[in-house]
Amino acid sequence: MWNEIDDVATLDPTTPEIGGGGLAKQYSTASSRLMLDLLRLSRSSTTATASGASADALDGVIARPVLRSLLAALRLRDAATIQHVRRAAQFATGLARFIGWDGVSLRRLEIASLLHDIGKIGVPDHVLFKPGLLNPAEKDLFALQHNVGIDVLQACRVHQEVLEIINQSTPNYDSGQHGSKELHLGARILAIADAYDSLSHKQVYREAKSHTEILSILAGSAGTRFDGNLVSVMNRWIQAEGTPFSRELQEPPAPNNGAGFFQLAEEMQASSMCHIFSYLHTLESMYDGFYLVESDLKFRIWNTGMERLLGQPASKMLDQTWTSRQVEFADKQGRPLSDSAHPLREVIKNGKAQTAQVQVRHQDGRWIRVELMSVPLIDHDGSLQGVAEIFRDLTQDRRRRSEDKDLRKQATRDSLTGVFNRGELERTLESLISEFNRDSDPEPMSLIFLDVDKFKRINDTYLHLTGDQVLIGLAKLLQSETYSGEIIGRYGGEEFIVMCPSTDLKQAVEKAERLRRAIRDATLSTVKELKVTVSFGVTEIEQGDTLDDVFRRADKALFTSKDKGRDRTTALSKKEFLGGKSETVQAEPEPTYMLDGNFLACVTSDMIVLKFGSFVREQKAKLVKTAPGHVVVRVGGTFLPIWGSNERHQPVDLEIKFGLPPADVALPTRQGVIERTYFQVQIKPSGWPPDVATFQQRARATFRLLKTYFVADY
Ligand code: GH3
Ligand code: MG
Ligand code: MG
Repeated sequence: MWNEIDDVATLDPTTPEIGGGGLAKQYSTASSRLMLDLLRLSRSSTTATASGASADALDGVIARPVLRSLLAALRLRDAATIQHVRRAAQFATGLARFIGWDGVSLRRLEIASLLHDIGKIGVPDHVLFKPGLLNPAEKDLFALQHNVGIDVLQACRVHQEVLEIINQSTPNYDSGQHGSKELHLGARILAIADAYDSLSHKQVYREAKSHTEILSILAGSAGTRFDGNLVSVMNRWIQAEGTPFSRELQEPPAPNNGAGFFQLAEEMQASSMCHIFSYLHTLESMYDGFYLVESDLKFRIWNTGMERLLGQPASKMLDQTWTSRQVEFADKQGRPLSDSAHPLREVIKNGKAQTAQVQVRHQDGRWIRVELMSVPLIDHDGSLQGVAEIFRDLTQDRRRRSEDKDLRKQATRDSLTGVFNRGELERTLESLISEFNRDSDPEPMSLIFLDVDKFKRINDTYLHLTGDQVLIGLAKLLQSETYSGEIIGRYGGEEFIVMCPSTDLKQAVEKAERLRRAIRDATLSTVKELKVTVSFGVTEIEQGDTLDDVFRRADKALFTSKDKGRDRTTALSKKEFLGGKSETVQAEPEPTYMLDGNFLACVTSDMIVLKFGSFVREQKAKLVKTAPGHVVVRVGGTFLPIWGSNERHQPVDLEIKFGLPPADVALPTRQGVIERTYFQVQIKPSGWPPDVATFQQRARATFRLLKTYFVADY
C-alpha cells in the first residue's frame, strides 16, 4: 500500500544528485541526522529548564546553556546581527524599565529581544549577505527565518510569552497592526527597539540615520506599524537618558582556533546548531509542516507549518501522545486510517523511511490531501529515537509548486557542512570558467581538489557521528584558512573543492600545502587523538577548458597523491595531462629541522680546499670532521648552543658531500670549464632552535653563504 523508499534523499533538497546509489545513500542520512540533532536539542532544553536552578533556567524563560549556544551560533553565522540583537535588547529593556517594568516580564522581553532574529542563522548566504536590496523571491526566502526561529525556540521550550513577543513584533505579523493595543506591550516595545537600532546603524543598503530622522520615520508609521504613544514615551526617555547604545557594545574576541578542547567543542556545537537552522530553513521552504515524535510517541516538536496546516497550536499538541484522536488520517480514497495502519507504525517496526499520499484532517473538519514522509530517527548505535513526519500540502495551487522549484534551485548549501553543495559549486565554477574563456587575457585561476584519507576507517573506528564532525570541522577549517574570493564546496562525501581566483598553479600548490599542514595539525572532532590527513590534487584552468576537463585533471592529480601514499599534494598542468605524463610536480617538502640543498660549482679539486679554508676562517666556523669528499662544519659557534635572535648565536651543522656530478644532473655547457663539482649539503641545528621557521631562515641564509664561496666566479 505504501511505496516504500529506503532512501530519503528527496527530503534533502540540498542533496546533490550524484549517480550511483552508494553516495546517495550516505547523503540520505544527513536529513535524519539533523532531525535527530533537533530532537536532542529539544530534549536537553527541556531537562535543563525543568531541573536547573532558577538562575540557570533564567526564571523559567529559557535554559541558560541553550541561550548561550543559540547566541554562539548566531555570532558564528553573522557578527553584525549578534551586535544588533544585543543593542535591541538593551534598548527594549531600557524603555521598558522607563515605563516601570521589572522582574520576570523584563527578563522575558530581554530574551525575546536577544532571540528575535535567531532564525537568520538558517538564511542562505546569498540572501543573508547580499550587498543591496533583496528581490521579491529573496525577500520571501528571508522571511522564512521568522518561522525557523520560532520552530527552534519552540523546540527549546522557550517560554510561551517570549514566542508571543517575537511573533507579534514582526512587521509581517498578519493579525493586526503594531499600533494596536491588542498586541503584547512587549512586542510593541521590541518593534520600536528593533527599528530604532537598525535605522541608527549603517546597513549594506543605506546609511545610518540620526535620532531626529528616526523619530520622524517612527512617528510617520505610528498607529500602523508602531504604537504612537510608545514612540512619544521613547522620545522622552531618550531626551532624559540619551541613546542607550551610544557606546558600542564590545564583542568579546572570537574564540581562538584550537585554543582548547572546550572552545573547540563549543564551536563545534555552534556550528552544528547552524546546520540545524539551515536545514530547517530548507524544510520551511520546501514543505508545509513537520512534527517529531519521541519513541514513546509523544509529540516533541510541532512546527509553525503544522500549526498553519492543521490549525492546531503547538502549545496544545506538545507532549500529547500521537494517536488518531490527535491527528486524523485517511487514505487517498478517504477511508479512515487506523493507528496500526499508519506509516508511522510501519516505520517504527522496520526502521525504514516511507512516503505516502494520504489525507489529514484540519481542525475545522476539512480533509487535506498531503504527501507524507515518515523518517525514522536512528541513533548511531542503531536505536530508534523517534520519527519525523513531514507534510507537503497537495491541495495548494500550481503557482506555489513552481515557486517551490525556484526555491529548490536556490538551495545552495550543503546541509551538513554549510559550504556550497555540489550543484551550486558546479553552477558557479561553470560560469567562472566560461568567463575565463571569454576573456582574452584572463587572470590565472586554479582549482584544488581534496579528499580525506582513509575516511572509511574513521567512520568505522569512531562511529559515523565523528566522521560527520570531521567533515564539519574540515569545512570550517577550509573557510578560516582561505582569505578572499575562494569558492569552497563539498563535491561528494568526503571530497571538497577550493576554487582559487587570481592564483596560478604554483601559488595554488602553496595554498594546498598550507591547508594540508593545517588539517594535519588540527583537531577536527571531539575525538582528540584522531588525526586526520587529506590528499590534494591541484590544477590551473587553461584557455579552452571545460569544467569537466578541469575536474578530470584535478581528479587525476588527487589520485596520484593517494597512490604515492596520501597526505600530500600533486599538481598537474594541462600540458602534463595531455602529454600522458602522470609524473607530477610534488610540492616542496615542508620545513623541518633539516635543510637539504645541492649545487653545482665550477671548481677544481685543489681549489675546493682553499675555498673551504676561506669559509671556515671568515665565518668563524669550526671544522668538525673531514674526510675525502666529506666535510662537517659548525657555523655560529658560541660555546653554548643557545639559539638567540642574533645569527651569530644560532649554531648549525653543515654536512657537505662533494664529488662528480651524478649522471642525471644536467651540466651547463660552458667553454673552457673542464671540472665541475657537485655539492650536497645537509644543514641541521646544533642545540635547540625556538621553532622551525627560525631554523629554516638561518639554514637557508647559511646555505646561500656557503654557495657564494664556491660559485662566486662561475
Ligand atoms: P582514501 O584514502 O582512498 O580516500 O580512503 P577513504 O576511506 O577515504 O575512501 P572511500 O571513498 O573508500 O570512503 C569514503 C567514505 O566516506 C565512505 C563513506 O561511508 C564515507 N562518507 C561519505 N559521506 C559521509 C558523510 O556525510 N558522513 C560520514 N560520516 N561519512 C561519509
Ligand atoms: Mg577518502
Ligand atoms: Mg572519496
